[in-house]
Amino acid sequence: MTDDQYPPLPPMTTGPAGKCPRCGQGTIFKGFISLKERCDVCGLDLTFADAADGPAFFVMLIASVPVLGIVLWLILGVGMSYWLTAILTVPLIIIFAILPLRPVKGWLVASQYFHKAEQGKLDNQD
Ligand SMILES: [Zn+2]
Repeated sequence: MTDDQYPPLPPMTTGPAGKCPRCGQGTIFKGFISLKERCDVCGLDLTFADAADGPAFFVMLIASVPVLGIVLWLILGVGMSYWLTAILTVPLIIIFAILPLRPVKGWLVASQYFHKAEQGKLDNQD
């Protein structure tokens, strides 16, 4: 089946759940954030997907603000010692920086498929 035979699925419905951006049924991950080569259900070739460091960038951008705010509040507001603050913030870093990587990567892969994003090409190359 070709892409035209599937209804377009919004990236926010398939990506964060790790579902195939074309059929919405199969999964795209084989590990925590490594991608399968193709969808088990519709056979979509997932080698087009290259999120690169996009997921890490977005997660760091989103996670750094609340974690830094909490650290500053613990040290400056509460007066907590540095070592206790470090012990308490390691789980926060794991929660805010590592757990969102998979849904963000799924969303970026689904967005690449949905918007047909690919390498730029020159018109005069045949
Ligand atoms: Zn599929």
